[in-house]
Amino acid sequence: MANDVPNRNQPKILRALDAPHLLTPKRCPNCGFEDSLRRVERDELIEGCGNVVKMRVQVDVCSHCGEPIYDLRTIGEMQAMERRLCSGETSGLIQTGVAYRAQ
Ligand SMILES: [Zn+2]
Repeated sequence: MANDVPNRNQPKILRALDAPHLLTPKRCPNCGFEDSLRRVERDELIEGCGNVVKMRVQVDVCSHCGEPIYDLRTIGEMQAMERRLCSGETSGLIQTGVAYRAQ
């Protein structure tokens, strides 16, 4: 599947898979600051094939540069949700609205 092969053109969340050795708990891979990561819960919008789901995830955010750092488990869960959206497997998800695109 194409999502299993990250490259430089993909969003930063997927590029983190290129450098798992940088995902140490205390060092920001973006700015290099030590002890700047703080774990927070927040809602992320996951898009798959034109469908979108709001998903609560835990993320480490750098207090110096604001970079969000996702651990590999969270990235896997978000990618799994993206695949679900593409496959139309939406059981257990609550529909909260309808998406539109401006012309
Ligand atoms: Zn940083």
